[in-house]
Amino acid sequence: MDRVDVTVIGGGPVGLFAAFYAGMRGMSVRIVDSLPELGGQLTALYPEKYVYDMPGFPAVLAKDLARGLIDQAARFHPEVVLDETAEGLEPDFEGYTVVGRRDRYPTRTVIVSAGAGAFSPTKLGVEGEDGYVGRGLSYGVKSKADFEGKRVLVVGGGDSAFDWAENLHPVAASVEIVHRRDQFRAHEETVRAVRGLGVGFHLFKVVTALHGDGDLTAVTLEDTQTKESGEIPCDALVVNIGFKSSLGPIKDWGLVIEKNQVVVDHGYRTNLPGVFAVGDVCSFDGKIKLIATGVGEAATAVCLAKTRLDPTAKLFPGHSSDMDQFATVPG
Ligand SMILES: Cc1cc2nc3c(=O)[nH]c(=O)nc-3n(C[C@H](O)[C@H](O)[C@H](O)COP(=O)(O)OP(=O)(O)OC[C@H]3O[C@@H](n4cnc5c(N)ncnc54)[C@H](O)[C@@H]3O)c2cc1C
Repeated sequence: MDRVDVTVIGGGPVGLFAAFYAGMRGMSVRIVDSLPELGGQLTALYPEKYVYDMPGFPAVLAKDLARGLIDQAARFHPEVVLDETAEGLEPDFEGYTVVGRRDRYPTRTVIVSAGAGAFSPTKLGVEGEDGYVGRGLSYGVKSKADFEGKRVLVVGGGDSAFDWAENLHPVAASVEIVHRRDQFRAHEETVRAVRGLGVGFHLFKVVTALHGDGDLTAVTLEDTQTKESGEIPCDALVVNIGFKSSLGPIKDWGLVIEKNQVVVDHGYRTNLPGVFAVGDVCSFDGKIKLIATGVGEAATAVCLAKTRLDPTAKLFPGHSSDMDQFATVPG
């Protein structure tokens, strides 16, 4: 493996923008992500949802925003290593070696943009659950088209559950929400909108069994109060009862961590020299977990990494609109 100027750990929106900005500053870049595709939460958790707070985009689908960030980063040809988890960080004479599950990645500086860390969905805890994943059971929605004409049960009472119920309603044959209470964590507006669509509700119910020879065809719902249960036919079960996330191995790198986040200074520098943290993973007074704020953090961290490697370089690179390298617009 060649030693690169910067290794970006986490190819979510913030890491992708860091990769773009580092490329723009003439740095060699490697992105490492444990997921099989780039885009972080945008791609993995809510690809079909609209995002309304991106500067310049009144509304943009999360998957389209991810596509744009991926294309923008690709302009400077970063090396992309997917399905690879950064497990260790070893200092060496020229910087660090990021130790992955499969390989070792030498680098001069590191930008950690690992979000909430590697995340995994909270499961129902029902017998045989894993066997139905991809055969009717999912923990999110990758493509609405997969639910066309299907009888869908959405489990959960939070924003994600209600958002999926609203989004799937136009394509599915039917959508019903299963929730263990009659109170919802979801935003009032969304609850009102979903009720207005005529989505059905199974309240005070939990899923206790899954049925189907191969593909899912029905579930057993148990009443949390009376303990009575009954079988409900369905073709798709979308489980939205939360995500567990953990920084995992990153916690052992010698970084200062508070509440599962990496503590940084005003330049997004961690306590380890040449290691920066940006986006959801970092913590400082006034931190807001938004894409719009995270990409700004990434630009600053990249510029500080640049001046660390080349003290003659200016911190502020100038405006992209004035740079010769952008004289042509990619097709
Ligand atoms: C349902 C939902 C709706 C949202 N809506 C909005 C919105 O409207 N506007 C907005 O601004 N924000 C929104 N957000 C928040 C936004 O998605 C996050 O702030 C953003 O994704 C953070 O970007 P990030 O790049 O820091 O981290 P992430 O997107 O979490 O990406 C981190 C990446 O790091 C990888 N990773 C983690 N650990 C390792 C490791 N050890 N090795 C290799 N890779 C690793 C992960 O696989 C992941 O791909 C929403 C979030 C959710 C869940």
